[in-house]
Amino acid sequence: MEKYDVIVIGGGHAGCEAAAAAARLGAPTILITHKLETIGEMSCNPAIGGLAKGHLVREIDALDGVMGRAIDGAGIQFRVLNKSRGPAVRGPRAQADRKLYRQIMQKILFEQDNLTIFAGSVADLIINNDVVTGVLLEGGRSFSCNKVILTTGTFLRGEIHIGEERIPAGRMGEAPAAGLSRMLAEKGFELGRLKTGTPPRLDGQTINWGGLTVQKGDAHPVPFSFMTKAITNRQIDCHITSTNPESHKIIMQNLDRAPMYSGQIEGTGPRYCPSIEDKVVRFSEREHHQIFLEPEGLDDQTVYPNGISTSLPRDVQHAFLKTIPGLENAKILRPGYAIEYDYIDPRELTAALETRKISGLYLAGQINGTTGYEEAAAQGLMAGLNAAIACGGGKDFILDRADAYIGVLIDDLISRGTSEPYRMFTSRAEYRLLLRADNADQRLTPLGINLGCVSLERKKLFEEKFEALGLARGLLTGLSAKPREMIENEMAVTRDGKSRSALQLLAYPDVTVESLSTIWPKLKNIRPDVAEQLEIEARYVTYLQRQSADIEAFRRDEALEIPADLDLDKVGGLSNEVREKLKSSRPASFGAAARISGVTPAALTALLRYVRRNERVINH
Ligand code: FAD
Repeated sequence: MEKYDVIVIGGGHAGCEAAAAAARLGAPTILITHKLETIGEMSCNPAIGGLAKGHLVREIDALDGVMGRAIDGAGIQFRVLNKSRGPAVRGPRAQADRKLYRQIMQKILFEQDNLTIFAGSVADLIINNDVVTGVLLEGGRSFSCNKVILTTGTFLRGEIHIGEERIPAGRMGEAPAAGLSRMLAEKGFELGRLKTGTPPRLDGQTINWGGLTVQKGDAHPVPFSFMTKAITNRQIDCHITSTNPESHKIIMQNLDRAPMYSGQIEGTGPRYCPSIEDKVVRFSEREHHQIFLEPEGLDDQTVYPNGISTSLPRDVQHAFLKTIPGLENAKILRPGYAIEYDYIDPRELTAALETRKISGLYLAGQINGTTGYEEAAAQGLMAGLNAAIACGGGKDFILDRADAYIGVLIDDLISRGTSEPYRMFTSRAEYRLLLRADNADQRLTPLGINLGCVSLERKKLFEEKFEALGLARGLLTGLSAKPREMIENEMAVTRDGKSRSALQLLAYPDVTVESLSTIWPKLKNIRPDVAEQLEIEARYVTYLQRQSADIEAFRRDEALEIPADLDLDKVGGLSNEVREKLKSSRPASFGAAARISGVTPAALTALLRYVRRNERVINH
């Protein structure tokens, strides 16, 4: 039997990152997925990034993941969202040429050293004494391994709904994975059911574009990857239209045929990405809902109408589209649909994304209850790195909530679980002033260099930037001016007669490295990315100092470990409810225990008292 260190099941966004990450760390890895041609497929919207999701992509890139490079090569409209707000909450987003994205992802993976790619359907896992040792494919072939990463997305017992029609599928036109679901349930995993949906795809040649609002991308596209020098694809416009009372009337009249409302769908859908029927019901006071008409590619006439995901029957989809300006004669290339699928309660996982029930089995992506390509990719990266590290007997690579959005994502999942599709938001990150998209490389690339998962080229680029930042910081600190001088140069600063360094002056909203270069021309030599970084740092300096005190307190609680083998039944003073919650999440620290909803300060005190009293006993 062929043997690998790591087997990754599934070539979606989680699987691609997992396979590439494990291979980058030198572990002989095989990616087994249904079809080679769907590796890197975007099941739903042809776009990467957005608010908080863009942060995840930058963080994945900072650890040399593939998603950022792929979207830079496939992006056809780049926009930084929330540009008018502070840098902490700005979100880079790009519309993708769907086909190009797949092609680039496949090229990167096929060229990756230590990585074999194999088309097949995994029917079962080979498990001996609760340790995974291989996988069995449909048709009888098997592979043995040290670690398995399961990234099967929406395929576990997937079922598509279009009105009254029900089609067993993992995605339109692709068979579901039922055997794996059964096996996981038999092994005692807690399975739940979730739902997501997608809009109909339209033929762009049948859309009446005249009169629709044009939405342009940014004039100067900002790449996702710290490695990309420039975006070279032709950039396109999107268009905006909206539903109206007539469309809403048709939807309301047919609500009893919508699987979500007829009781046909039991799974919970994404609250923040509702279907059009959901929006019409929940926001009945609104007369219009916006629709972004997004081209799916440079040489593809397919249009993705973002905002009208639906599982209404085909005839109702046709009828309500006809009421929408520009879509009166639009031809549907593929109907919208909802999909229901199984997910595993992520509280079954350690922070390395390994299951506690089966040693060596890691789960990443939509299987853990998340939604979105970026959330899936972030988990895939971490599972891939940790599986490869574990093969060499190393210590888990964990990012905490103050390191990265990736840390927030994983901590939320493993400590709180989720009962609805989980997506990332900036509001989930308590240290978001520090966790910005612009500084992801400074936060994470040094960790990646230490770990050995970062290419030499990225290491060199990072070190050059780091050096440039240090030099520029030194230069700005060494220059100073009095308010009079600044005001003479039309810069608004406090008139208190105090001399300030150029770095301190950058804290003023209208002062930039460029404007300061009118006083000190040598500042013109500072690289634009370095200048932007220093401007943001200077503006946030007071808040960042305050936040670092909070981070210290957070890390003190994280350092208070709860032994993995602690017998929670022996801890006195816990209610049954709290005990059960602690048992299902098995928090590794007091900080993590405190974040589980319902775990009270009194329960934490009882736990702390017990651990302290029994420390010696527990440790031996
Ligand atoms: P996937 O991308 O689903 O990849 C799973 C991979 O595993 C596939 O390549 C599959 O072939 C392979 N596989 C599965 N089982 C096996 C097996 N037994 N053997 C071998 N290979 C296997 N996200 C949003 O953020 N917003 C949305 O509006 C949205 N709508 C969606 C609508 C639909 C209809 C679908 C299907 C998904 C939607 N998503 C949406 C979710 C988004 O597509 C996923 O979050 C993302 O693709 C998850 O990535 P993943 O890697 O976990 O799984």
